[in-house]
Amino acid sequence: MSIIHGDHREDAHFLLANYLRVVLHQKLVPKLCDCAAAMPEEKKIQVISEAYERTKGVIDLEVTDNLREAVGCSACNGLGYKGRLVAHETMVIPSDGEDRDLFSQAYREHRLNLTSDLNKSNGIDYISRQETFCNLLKIGLMDWPSVLKQIKS
Ligand SMILES: [Zn+2]
Repeated sequence: MSIIHGDHREDAHFLLANYLRVVLHQKLVPKLCDCAAAMPEEKKIQVISEAYERTKGVIDLEVTDNLREAVGCSACNGLGYKGRLVAHETMVIPSDGEDRDLFSQAYREHRLNLTSDLNKSNGIDYISRQETFCNLLKIGLMDWPSVLKQIKS
């Protein structure tokens, strides 16, 4: 809001409170090459536990069999990664109805300052980046060291 001229700030607030539908933040992350291998059972147990602890349960990999790790081949120049994936963080606000009213009210009352404010009680459907990482791990397109690096940065 600080970049919007004072004369137009009121209009900008009105537009955000009443017409904002989606906020999407995307980040490109390394994709495992096809040469990636299934993670050995012992390591899997360790990673599942570490992921759960570090993300306070957001990354829960208990029920997946697709955890993979980087290997390296001629196609990826021995790196184990080839190409990029989009890891998104998404906030969706309904266009009308009670949820819209909840959001508009929360916005006007400046109650949307923290990530923890992005929830159903404020009319918002929110998918965190950690939830996205969890799904990318579960389908074997990302490995745990890459996710860990993203979480730390
Ligand atoms: Zn490869």
